[in-house]
Amino acid sequence: MQFELVKLPYAANSLEPVISKQTIEFHHGKHLQTYVNNLNNLILGTAFESTDLETIVSEAEGAIFNNAGQVLNHTLYFTQFSPAGERKPSGKLAAAINAAYGSFEKFQKEFETAGTGLFGSGWVWLAADKYGELSITKEANAGNPVTKGLIPLLCFDVWEHAYYLDYQNRRGDHLKDLWKIVDWKAVEARYQ
Ligand code: MN
Repeated sequence: MQFELVKLPYAANSLEPVISKQTIEFHHGKHLQTYVNNLNNLILGTAFESTDLETIVSEAEGAIFNNAGQVLNHTLYFTQFSPAGERKPSGKLAAAINAAYGSFEKFQKEFETAGTGLFGSGWVWLAADKYGELSITKEANAGNPVTKGLIPLLCFDVWEHAYYLDYQNRRGDHLKDLWKIVDWKAVEARYQ
């Protein structure tokens, strides 16, 4: 199948000042569009031509894995934010976070620490196993917890292209501010 650029569920300027319109235009409109185009070209004539994205990410290697991973990662990333939304988890995800990390605040701290401690480019994830048990995973480059059999729930992109125009070298400040735009209703919908 041919993949398409995910449509943003908000205006390009509506996540400011945490993510500027200019960053959205480069990150979504150029970086992600390039990954989509590369993936569509790379899978032509391969066994991945008619499989879904999660299957490609789970099974592919090399350039196909890198581009498919980045398409899946950014699709989850861009659809987990909103200019106005629930800024704290509720229901069974909130209960699972409290059980695993002690409190939402302790979870946030641990998640930020994972993101600031990740060397180079990559992603920090909150993921669930098939029993609903939560874990924070650090993934290099295009990594996604689906390769470990986990369900991805929430992700922070720590590639410099995600924050450098707005925060320059201050990755930690950027990660701390991302909590202001996470829509926990969108995250909870991934935790079933
Ligand atoms: Mn990115």
